[in-house]
Amino acid sequence: MAKLEKVLIANRGEIALRILRACKELDIQTVAVHSTADSELKHVRLADESVCIGPPSSTESYLNVPAIISAAEVTNASAIHPGYGFLAENADFADQVEKSGFTFIGPTADTIRLMGDKVSAIQAMKKAGVPTVPGSDGPLDEDNERTADIARRIGFPVIVKAAAGGGGRGMRVVHNEAALINSVQVTQSEAAAAFGSDVVYLEKFLQKPRHVEIQVIADGQGHAVHLGDRDCSLQRRHQKVLEEAPAPDIDDHLRMQVAEACVAACIEIGYRGAGTFEFLYEDGGFYFIEMNTRVQVEHPVSEMITGIDIVKEQLNIAAGEPLSFTQEEVKFRGHAFECRINAEDPKTFMPSPGKVTTFHAPGGLGVRVDSHLYDGYTVPPFYDSLIAKIISFGETRPIALARMRQALDELVVEGIRTNTPLHRDLVRDEAFKAGGVSIHYLESKLEER
Ligand code: ADP
Repeated sequence: MAKLEKVLIANRGEIALRILRACKELDIQTVAVHSTADSELKHVRLADESVCIGPPSSTESYLNVPAIISAAEVTNASAIHPGYGFLAENADFADQVEKSGFTFIGPTADTIRLMGDKVSAIQAMKKAGVPTVPGSDGPLDEDNERTADIARRIGFPVIVKAAAGGGGRGMRVVHNEAALINSVQVTQSEAAAAFGSDVVYLEKFLQKPRHVEIQVIADGQGHAVHLGDRDCSLQRRHQKVLEEAPAPDIDDHLRMQVAEACVAACIEIGYRGAGTFEFLYEDGGFYFIEMNTRVQVEHPVSEMITGIDIVKEQLNIAAGEPLSFTQEEVKFRGHAFECRINAEDPKTFMPSPGKVTTFHAPGGLGVRVDSHLYDGYTVPPFYDSLIAKIISFGETRPIALARMRQALDELVVEGIRTNTPLHRDLVRDEAFKAGGVSIHYLESKLEER
């Protein structure tokens, strides 16, 4: 069986630790790279080798391509795992990694490029038979009359989206024709500044959708499988807060039909690695919005209900192995939740970096904690505020939810503020307990407070 010799982990925090654990299990050597602010990270201590790649600012460290490539060179790494965020969906980075003689653990640069442009992604998905949101079917041009025609055909409200947008930025909802052209222009200039491209397109703005996504894994050798769906509707400012698998209250036949369309799309585009097709789900219909060509924060809930280690599969596929299982061998069992614990004020959501004086992780049957925290660790102010993922599993949704309730009650993080109180509230929320709330539910609940 082909194997990667040594993997450089081009990330930090919990996902770097997650990747390190998978490497250790496969007996693969590990190289941690870190900024000067991150030398105390747990995975840095556990890695076989570590290299400091720059000062705290991500642009000079975790986004510093030459520094990462040269760290791979000096340590003689064979492959680079980008994790999520940072350079994970940067096609030029993937290109550079391969050109420098290393294996990029992910899809080809061309696939990242295709899916990174939402307009081309939507067109590719339509072609593969995946349902999409009614929209402009391509970029808007200078012709305002044509733009107005498209919006009228779709019907207001519409949403203007940047083709290169990401992280919940580069979107604007338009409620009527009077506001249309100005909104398009503002989004164009924001997108140019933020993403280096002013290409925007229109979509129908769905009023009360849920966010449901399909996890896929493909080997780039003609095999692809799906690991079912996840519901990530609990969001604040388009950022996911709490996720679960499977998505509650969706017709199983429809769920499988959409998942199979995603698998077909993977084959069609020659997809390689782990990936996620994101959909909005409303009134019994699925509408594709974008694909993420990397491992996602919420991947553990799919692992819990299938028993498949997604990161290990990424490593095997990058080593040139075909998929180690077929779709028929994927058995779905039980239900899983994930709460994202952030170092932030639970009321104002302001970041709360600093020293963690006490950390007690929850445990017990069906509880998993993916976290780089330890007593005495200082959360630096420079990066994403995610400090732990609490994951629960149970044979049924109520059992998994009860375990999550208990896990959150056991969790102790002192010295900094966290959003744990918000999660404790959410798992006791009647509408959430019933299942199937829309993407606006969390924000409307927060407004009421
Ligand atoms: P990003 O790449 O920034 O994550 P997405 O296209 O995935 O952008 O959209 C992020 C979120 O924005 C979705 O989860 C949803 O909450 C909202 N959204 C996007 N498109 C629409 C739409 N057509 N109608 C309603 N909400 C939308």
